[in-house]
Amino acid sequence: MKGLIKQQKSLLRRLVQCGDFVRGSINCVCGRCNRANCICEKKSAAKAYRLTYKDGLQQTKIVYLAKNRLRVARQLLANYARVRNIIEQIINTNIKILKKGSGP
Ligand SMILES: [Zn+2]
Repeated sequence: MKGLIKQQKSLLRRLVQCGDFVRGSINCVCGRCNRANCICEKKSAAKAYRLTYKDGLQQTKIVYLAKNRLRVARQLLANYARVRNIIEQIINTNIKILKKGSGP
C-alpha cells in the first residue's frame, strides 16, 4: 500500500510537469480555400494550418494557426498525450488503492 501511495504521488508530480496542453489535431489546409481536401483548380502553394478539437459540449471547433504558432501547437498536443497517459496510470493506481481500502 505504501508503494501505491508513493506511486500515486509521483504520478501527480509528473502530471504537473507536463505543462500546458490542448486537445485536438492539426491539419494542413489549402491556403486559398482553407479545406483539408482542396477543391481549387490550381492548388495554392501557400499552406495554412488549423487545429480541430472538441469542446466540453463535444462541439467541433477550429482554430487557424499562424505558421509561427505551429511548433507551439504541436508541443501542446504532445503534452496532452502525456497528460492522458499519466491520467490513465493514476486511475489504475487509484483503483488499486481503492480495492485495498485505505483512506477515509
Ligand atoms: Zn484550395
